[in-house]
Amino acid sequence: MKDHHRRNSLKGIAIREGNVDLKGCEAQSRSNPSPRHFSPVRVSKDRIIRRLAGVRPYRPEGFVVKREQFEEKVVVHNYGHGGGGLSLSWGTAHLAMEEALAAGGSSCAVLGCGAVGLATAILMQKKGWKVTIYAKDLPPETTSNVAGGQWTPTSVYSPDEVTPAFRIQFCRASRLAYGYFQALVGDYYGVRWTENFWFEDKPFELPDFFAELSDLYQDLREVSPEEHPFPRRYGYRFTTPQIETPHYLNAILRDYRCAGGNIVVKTFHEPADLRVLPEAVVINCTGLGSKTLFDDSTLRPVKGQLTFLQPQPEIDYILTADQAQLYMMPRRDGILLGGSFEDDVSDLQPTAEFEERVIAGHRELFNALE
Ligand SMILES: Cc1cc2nc3c(=O)[nH]c(=O)nc-3n(C[C@H](O)[C@H](O)[C@H](O)COP(=O)(O)OP(=O)(O)OC[C@H]3O[C@@H](n4cnc5c(N)ncnc54)[C@H](O)[C@@H]3O)c2cc1C
Repeated sequence: MKDHHRRNSLKGIAIREGNVDLKGCEAQSRSNPSPRHFSPVRVSKDRIIRRLAGVRPYRPEGFVVKREQFEEKVVVHNYGHGGGGLSLSWGTAHLAMEEALAAGGSSCAVLGCGAVGLATAILMQKKGWKVTIYAKDLPPETTSNVAGGQWTPTSVYSPDEVTPAFRIQFCRASRLAYGYFQALVGDYYGVRWTENFWFEDKPFELPDFFAELSDLYQDLREVSPEEHPFPRRYGYRFTTPQIETPHYLNAILRDYRCAGGNIVVKTFHEPADLRVLPEAVVINCTGLGSKTLFDDSTLRPVKGQLTFLQPQPEIDYILTADQAQLYMMPRRDGILLGGSFEDDVSDLQPTAEFEERVIAGHRELFNALE
């Protein structure tokens, strides 16, 4: 699935030998009159400060937001966000909130305390509901804490396997999430706007949703080789929110608690375990946990590893290259280097092999700037 995944993650908007084929996307194609300055990332092994790995809760058919009945309980599912769960969190939380409100009541249980569970719990609180989160692990021990923090709903589904109804749901969730994150820009939540660059050696296509969500990528445009020093001929630029993930999760966890939210550390093994809950409405935000808890065999772990270098506050852009096998995000807690999508791999052990590749790859990219 690795190649399949990458291939599918690069469809939609194509550069063809220097021309942008926007396939209906109304992105701007004007040339940039004043090339920006790119401060170089200093890539070397002796600057590594930590390494970690996580597993994306990936479903080729896309995330699940739906309501169903389990005995006396109404269960609203909200899981399976793949590589875009941080980005989509407030969006699918909004969809799940609508389902829960339609069920009626004034209190609910939220299963899971990652980005998706917390956003869902807070939206229910804002509707005046009493909310209790039940979760096996809390931040910083969630997959959400591993998310790099680029706002882009990428690697969420396989384009060949989604239904038209899912695409509508996906676009709505993306637009909602984009709106919610704009309200969080600032130091308290650790959200800011950042310029993104994506470079390749060959003509390439951006993921298909860039065209469908062109209103969220209004300044998307092609970048010519004269505009940047990186050793790649083809490129795009666009601006997105960027999230300082650990800082952000702490902030929304604080918000949830300050609004009177309870948290109970608890593991659920099967749907029958829900019977003990006092709440009649249960919102399931267990991410990959839904694979066993709700027996969803379409959900699978896609491992991603990150290597952090010492922080460089002067780096003010996100860089992606080589079919996302290399990416760099500047964060306050370090320069994040990533670029791995290992399908059906669930161990959380960082590997030396990844680190060698990602350090060598980024060194080659940034050496050109020195
Ligand atoms: C390397 C990497 C980089 C990423 N970068 C980005 C990025 O830049 N942008 C982006 O948008 N996304 C990114 N992602 C994807 C993102 O991390 C996930 O989509 C997101 O974290 C999913 O959130 P979640 O709340 O559904 O799951 P989780 O964060 O896994 O939370 C699930 C919660 O449910 C609980 N739980 C699970 N099972 C049970 C059970 N049986 N009983 C009780 N509780 C249970 C867990 O303990 C946890 O509290 C990245 C992922 C990885 C691995």
